[in-house]
Amino acid sequence: MTATNTGTALDEVHILWTSEGMSCDGDTVSVTAASLPSIEDVLLGLVPGLPKVHLHNKVLAKEVGEDFVAPFRKAAAGELGPFIFVVEGSIPNEHINGEGYWTSMGNDPVTGQPITVNEWIDRLAPRAWAVVAIGTCATYGGIHAMAGNPTGCMGLTDYLGEDFRSAGGLPIVNVPGCPVQPDNFMETLTWLLYQAAGMAPMIPLDDKLRPTWLFGKTVHEGCDRAGYYEQGDFAHDYNSPKCQVRIGCWGPVVNCNVTKRGWMDGVGGCPNVGGICIACTMPGFPDKFMPFMDEPPGGAVSSAMTSVYGTLIRKMRGITNASANREPKWRHNGRKLTSGYNP
Ligand code: SF4
Ligand code: SF4
Ligand code: SF4
Repeated sequence: MTATNTGTALDEVHILWTSEGMSCDGDTVSVTAASLPSIEDVLLGLVPGLPKVHLHNKVLAKEVGEDFVAPFRKAAAGELGPFIFVVEGSIPNEHINGEGYWTSMGNDPVTGQPITVNEWIDRLAPRAWAVVAIGTCATYGGIHAMAGNPTGCMGLTDYLGEDFRSAGGLPIVNVPGCPVQPDNFMETLTWLLYQAAGMAPMIPLDDKLRPTWLFGKTVHEGCDRAGYYEQGDFAHDYNSPKCQVRIGCWGPVVNCNVTKRGWMDGVGGCPNVGGICIACTMPGFPDKFMPFMDEPPGGAVSSAMTSVYGTLIRKMRGITNASANREPKWRHNGRKLTSGYNP
């Protein structure tokens, strides 16, 4: 069937992916580590039921220069066919660019002037079947949008508005993280591709437009170290396997699943492997969580309360644990049966 952008189940989809905003390309690099599914499997058509996918991403493309920009130009002119528009990096405010511009991709063939990322978004987002913001810069502004920045940059929802709907009738889909967790993005993309193929319902999003199944729990709720927290047993330096809340971990109040999911093939996930959670997925990142490595304000109160209860519980559990580690006394060699057996 010929792919259309009219609500029919699609059998062919382009992915136009720009990282020309305020970006380090870290999200693209991160996604190359995905395995559920891998980006290679999606592009090679190895995932049953997905439409055929054509990826246009400058880091992963073999085309350069005008050859790379060509499909973006075709899409802007309405000549490409259905596409998902992926935006990586925060969006600068070109209303305050002085005499220049902040970011661009390609030049206008008539004027010779750079085409800003903002112009690309204005042209492509309304024509896209779906629009996805990848990474915390694109979703909420991220590092480039912190206090004191000169570009006035912002996330895609700040730029397009919360009421934005794509040509496919979807709101912006936000997959935050700095960088994004690879499988979080590929799982979201896979959902959207199945939805485009007519094989999945509307993707469920929370009020920050994040996939609910990925961002509905906190780091703390999945952390390998949560048992230490519950027992009031806290690390005082970064060499300890214990709970890191007193040395800067924000995990109890941060929506992120990497402690459950790991980073690559289930391995990693910041606090699990010794890194404090600095809340890189959150709309308030980074300003609301700085200075990094200081104890979070709420952490002092909650850890003090847990210390009282946890110290007592830990002692009692120590006694029970010592008992559980001893075999019952009737398990011995000798002529007398002391097990209590009574025929
Ligand atoms: Fe780079 Fe982080 Fe921004 Fe992604 S969210 S572009 S990894 S700084
Ligand atoms: Fe929670 Fe962080 Fe402690 Fe893990 S290290 S239990 S996320 S506070
Ligand atoms: Fe970011 Fe914290 Fe999740 Fe690590 S655990 S990826 S720092 S939100």
